[in-house]
Amino acid sequence: MQAAENKVVSIHYTLTDEQGTTLDSSEGREPLSYLHGSGNIIPGLEKALEGKTAGEKLNVKVSAEDGYGERNEELVQQVPMEAFQGVDNVEPGMQFEAQAPDGNVLRVTVTEIGEEQVTVDANHPLAGHELNFDVEVAEVREPTQEELDHGHVHE
Ligand code: ZN
Repeated sequence: MQAAENKVVSIHYTLTDEQGTTLDSSEGREPLSYLHGSGNIIPGLEKALEGKTAGEKLNVKVSAEDGYGERNEELVQQVPMEAFQGVDNVEPGMQFEAQAPDGNVLRVTVTEIGEEQVTVDANHPLAGHELNFDVEVAEVREPTQEELDHGHVHE
């Protein structure tokens, strides 16, 4: 069976950045399953998997644009330390959820701690990076009706 719209595709993958550093991998875990064509995974990877069958291996380079997007420096902001009341130790790398003015929930990462200000970055940690995926297709199957209705895979 080929990976196509509304098929459940399971893949093993290793994700590296431009320097060859491993950022994420399914090694030692269950393969990642997603519903093809539903935007469950990044567009560049989904496109490359189109038509692939179990056992096929591929190497996919995804530009930042087709991955997590370019970095947007407007998403880097200074917030007063008081905003972190109730948090014992604010440290770089910590992630928080913040409400944007439009009501969307943003996941922000603390990047710098000043005396009274904390710098937070709402860019996805992989924004602006070219992504390199080594992928092996583990399985392609029909979805259940419930998976189709929900638009995602149930493990
Ligand atoms: Zn569901």
